[in-house]
Amino acid sequence: MAVADRPILAGMTPDELKAFVVSHGHPAYRATQINDWLCRRFQMVPDAMKNLPSALRQDLQSELHAPSSRIIRRADAGDGTGKLLLSLADDEVIEMVTIPAGDRLTFCLSTQVGCPVRCRFCASGADGLKRNLRCGEILEEYLHGIAAAGKQPENLVFMGIGEGLLNIGELLKSLDRLTSPAGFGMSPRRITVSTSGIVPGIRQLAAVKREYNLAISLHAVNDRIRAELIPDACRYPVQEILRAADEYRETVGRMVTFEYTLLDGINDSRADAAELGRLSRRHHAKINLIPFNETGNGFRRPSRRTIDEFAAEIERNGGHVTVRRERGSGENAACGQLRRQHAAPDNAGLSDN
Ligand code: SF4
Repeated sequence: MAVADRPILAGMTPDELKAFVVSHGHPAYRATQINDWLCRRFQMVPDAMKNLPSALRQDLQSELHAPSSRIIRRADAGDGTGKLLLSLADDEVIEMVTIPAGDRLTFCLSTQVGCPVRCRFCASGADGLKRNLRCGEILEEYLHGIAAAGKQPENLVFMGIGEGLLNIGELLKSLDRLTSPAGFGMSPRRITVSTSGIVPGIRQLAAVKREYNLAISLHAVNDRIRAELIPDACRYPVQEILRAADEYRETVGRMVTFEYTLLDGINDSRADAAELGRLSRRHHAKINLIPFNETGNGFRRPSRRTIDEFAAEIERNGGHVTVRRERGSGENAACGQLRRQHAAPDNAGLSDN
């Protein structure tokens, strides 16, 4: 079996584990023990699974990816936010982020290597899509995060590299594993799936009828401005996105969030804010303003005053708005920056893991 086709231990369901152990001549209850190591003790290295016989540990090690990824860099922002750069089995590289806030910990996970959407202001999408992540690779991000942070997160956001709804099969498998009682047991209400507005994906996510939070990166109130920010290939019309958001809220019973990256002189006018306020009211959606994290690609963050006035205008028009607190601004804060810096020759300042 080619290395790339090997199953990934962290992504295997209890049934798949059972089929594996039985087909290798071990009793079925060993699958429960392996599952407990993964989901209760967050251990993905067979040699550390001490109650397994060495022959089974050997089978797991030689026939599966266990694990398939490893941490190659860490960056700490100084405010507790940590970024892990992970190398995959085929030497591709992704990021995951750990974000503590008070006594709560949030993980931000990637779903693809690169991103096909190629938003013009985003470092992650600059080189397009390399490939989708497999369910096991997504779950390994989660497990590496737990090992680095020393605990399971209270919240999980799929806002890292990639457009998760364009990798929805593997995303749904990982969501299932993260929330099933036999898996990691997280509440769906503690998980947020972010999308750039992939309408068929929003409908597929709604169809599973789990209470995942949905965050739609609107970034513009009309198609003209949106076309300046998101290339045609993966962009859906604003009205279609709003309809899909309504359907999601009605089907799942969760309020949708519209993410709005504020870019100086592009989408930060008073008229934009007023329209966003009206959209928020009409569609019962929260607005999350994200002051742009400058990455040297020509886009600029508006002044503090513009951001405050923009938020106030949304509220005056009946909208419900929050401004995202800056986290990780000290070190490669925007998503994809650490990965791009790794690809470039000058990656000084990061500590080798
Ligand atoms: S902002 Fe999100 S959807 Fe857009 S290119 Fe970056 S990772 Fe992809």
